[in-house]
Amino acid sequence: MPLKSLLKFLLLPLLLFSFSCTPDTATYDVVDRNQLLDDLQYLSSDELEGRKTGTEGSRMAQEYIIERFNTLGLGMFGESYKHLFDHTNQRTGEEFIDAVNLIAYIEGSDQPERYIVVTAHYDHLGVQDGEIYNGADDNASGTGGLMAAARYFTDNQPQNSIIFIAFDAEEQGLGGAWHFVENPVVPLDQIVLNVNMDMISNNFENELYAVGTYHYPFLKPLIEEYTAGAPVDVLFGFDSDEWDQDWTMASDHGPFHQKGIPFVYFGVEDHPHYHAPTDTFENTNPEFYIDAVITIIGVIEGLDLRLNEVEEASQTEQVPSE
Ligand SMILES: [Zn+2]
Repeated sequence: MPLKSLLKFLLLPLLLFSFSCTPDTATYDVVDRNQLLDDLQYLSSDELEGRKTGTEGSRMAQEYIIERFNTLGLGMFGESYKHLFDHTNQRTGEEFIDAVNLIAYIEGSDQPERYIVVTAHYDHLGVQDGEIYNGADDNASGTGGLMAAARYFTDNQPQNSIIFIAFDAEEQGLGGAWHFVENPVVPLDQIVLNVNMDMISNNFENELYAVGTYHYPFLKPLIEEYTAGAPVDVLFGFDSDEWDQDWTMASDHGPFHQKGIPFVYFGVEDHPHYHAPTDTFENTNPEFYIDAVITIIGVIEGLDLRLNEVEEASQTEQVPSE
């Protein structure tokens, strides 16, 4: 066993985070529950009018997220967390000028030049035929999860650097994610993993899907290990044509996958409120949401510790094609 691995092995029992409650964890809440629910409620409120790209509601959402990034003291690439881009929805032809990705980072203690990119889109569908599409589950929930993860890793420094991105224009054809992988803020070959959250609050069976291990099978045992005692049941699937739906390109992890970057996407099974005006805060499951976010943070922390393995496996293992 190389010295470095040995050291990590010895350090494992000292980790602050664990699902089994050790005295260390009792003093620190992995998630600030009130904050998380406040975030979900505010971002999906009528005031923000569905956060469609380019709207006043989108701008208000940006302000809210930027304020949190500032408060946490997260690093920025360049002068601002805001990274502007133009985007055309290929399906509708609608054009968006100055759409906004919000990008922040926390430096790793051990391998600061190696990155995990944690993502969630903050945009939604806006107002259609006079009805507000609040997008609580899709994806105020993931955006809240993103901010909760940023808080956690601010207090518990990761070994590798973590980039946090609130993407815009996901609903317009993964616009923000495509822009990012074509114009990355760090070299793409230094990004080892994408963890994407999209729809993580609306489930009443206590089931959260981890999608992507069909393409990157080496991630599965690691995710299983780090969710073994998790408060939600983590299921695998929806990532090949063996399923009635294949979510490989269904959200912002898709462009990362297209660039050969391993991903794990966390989301719930489709529900009647998906892309409907009834996707509201009231229709989410707050307890499940909190537990899902705790679970996802646990996976990110575990994969950060084992990123050597992830990197090696992604370079050597045969990955099934799309
Ligand atoms: Zn979404």
